[in-house]
Amino acid sequence: MNEELRLKYRYLDLRSERLQHHLRLRNLYVQACRQHLLKDRFVEIETPYLTKATPEGSRDFIVPSRLQPGKFFALPQSPQQYKQLAMVAGFERYFQTARCFRDEDPRADRGFEHTQIDIEMSFVEREDVMQTIEAMITKAVESLGFTIKEKPFPRLTYKESMERYGADKFDMRTEEDKKNNVLAYAWVVDFPFFEKTDEGGWTFTHNPFSQPKPEFLEDHLAGRNVENILTTQYDLVCNGYETGGGSIRAHDPRTLRATYKTMGYSDEEIEESVGHMLEAFKYGAPPHGGIGLGVERMIMILTGETYLREVQAFPMTGSAHTSVMDAPSALPEKALIDAHIRLSA
Ligand code: ASP
Repeated sequence: MNEELRLKYRYLDLRSERLQHHLRLRNLYVQACRQHLLKDRFVEIETPYLTKATPEGSRDFIVPSRLQPGKFFALPQSPQQYKQLAMVAGFERYFQTARCFRDEDPRADRGFEHTQIDIEMSFVEREDVMQTIEAMITKAVESLGFTIKEKPFPRLTYKESMERYGADKFDMRTEEDKKNNVLAYAWVVDFPFFEKTDEGGWTFTHNPFSQPKPEFLEDHLAGRNVENILTTQYDLVCNGYETGGGSIRAHDPRTLRATYKTMGYSDEEIEESVGHMLEAFKYGAPPHGGIGLGVERMIMILTGETYLREVQAFPMTGSAHTSVMDAPSALPEKALIDAHIRLSA
């Protein structure tokens, strides 16, 4: 049936056995992760949705401020900075089923909003986070009746994965595995921290808040050998998809400042973008690290669906309109005046 029509009457579409199954499975998966984390002494903390533009590599959705004309909030691309601040605040083990907003062109497996099981932990190293996540995912998917191909999940360096698969996400399943819907998880580690921009400068490959690997810390602080610096980033791959990623974070202000210096930021620009983080770290930040795990990606894999919208209750249409309701839509003049917006066309 026509896609736009299906989404216009999404509540009827959702009556189908397939979508009922997918959304119920999604619920069970998220609940299994939540139960596991709560047992493992994690605390669920909600972070703001109206916040400051975050430097995470995508375009922000912006919200005009009525009370402060000419100023804007941004919807978070992820709770990255607030979860790190929760570590500074002494929570040590945080999680949240968080909505993330990214104004990118929608694709089959990517939309404006997605949900992430978002985690951060204090006093950990890379391997501690990977093991914690592995235990949670194993528990959750096995409790739902799925089989994991290899445990512990294989670990490949970025270099190995590029040599072996020509990509940093890959499918390790045999034809037989595919028939039986086996889950082939793997970790990819040792990514380059920076890549060249079109303008010839440097930008981060994954996350500007990451800590470089210890053997590159000195180079990093000195802004030397930039092309060879490896980060503590880890990505979780499953059946050809990237289903999550995270890192150990820079918790010393000097390290975070050096990242922005390498990216060509002036002192004022650094202050403007991450001054609040540098300030917070001055009061003593524990070493910490975490991860964001895409819920929809995981459910797509569990259900064998290739479209994100098949695992979301009320997804956007391909032409970026909401299902059932007609948004984005025009606003009455009064609402525009309140928001201090004058349309140019
Ligand atoms: N903030 C990252 C993301 O949304 C995840 C993380 O590093 O924890 O991809």
